[in-house]
Amino acid sequence: MSLKIPLALLCLIFIYQSAEARPYRSQKQIKVYFKEASSKHSETVRYHHLGYSEKQKDIFYITITKTKATKNTPAIYFNGSHHGNEKLSAEIVYQLAKFIVEYQDSSLIDSVLRNNVIILQPIVNPDGLQLNTRSNALGRDPNRDYPFPERDEHESFRLKETKLVKKILDNHRVEAAISFHSGMKGVLWPWCYSEKQTTDHNIFRELAIRIAKAMSLSTFEQSYFNYPSRGEFIDYAYMKHRTLALTVELSEPSYSDFKKQASSIQRAIAGSVEFLKALQLLRQGELEYTPRFDRDSSR
Ligand SMILES: [Zn+2]
Repeated sequence: MSLKIPLALLCLIFIYQSAEARPYRSQKQIKVYFKEASSKHSETVRYHHLGYSEKQKDIFYITITKTKATKNTPAIYFNGSHHGNEKLSAEIVYQLAKFIVEYQDSSLIDSVLRNNVIILQPIVNPDGLQLNTRSNALGRDPNRDYPFPERDEHESFRLKETKLVKKILDNHRVEAAISFHSGMKGVLWPWCYSEKQTTDHNIFRELAIRIAKAMSLSTFEQSYFNYPSRGEFIDYAYMKHRTLALTVELSEPSYSDFKKQASSIQRAIAGSVEFLKALQLLRQGELEYTPRFDRDSSR
């Protein structure tokens, strides 16, 4: 591996070399890979058992870092498969984990890992993934179960699966997050529940523009204007921890051919790499903002 090859190109090579990009990995296969990665790269990768789903399936994640991580180390969190029928979203986070592990010494990833913990949780809703349903085993939509400014914690977190996501946010200082979905195509930011803008609207917009561009997506907007919804992960993470949390939607029908799926995964990795780059610029005070332009889809 030459470290001089641009990361975007590496993404492409990585995915197309990967003969196992089809079919989608099961929860078991992802767990096996995560455990292997944590023993093979024990100095940087750590496997965490988080808890159990309604149907007693393991819920887990890995952390990757080159810091002596404490609770105060800034964390960047990627999750997938809030919706069990959006299998591509779990596969994306799994492939992103593999990519970061494999290229942990490339210059961008190395510098991110020296200052941050990266958290990867491919499967928020393992029962839904197995049943191929949007909802969890109780028939409830996990991505409508979070608190938001009009609903407090007592009336939310009814699901085991979302309580475990809360645990991740409570145990790490998550400064930024992407929640992958595969129901449409676009990059969305809070608020979902209201047309009001957040204090960080311009930062969100810039992050979304950069991710969308890296992924060749034309939709990027405040989530409310795409579809108003109450109880989403990104609203909770932003409200409670001021996490720069975005939803990245990248649909591809599960029956679509290998090339299409591989290209979606490759684009998602490129978008995630762009997100990491933009966060570094933001922290250094060097993020430049794209002026508004004609037919700007964001508001
Ligand atoms: Zn979804």
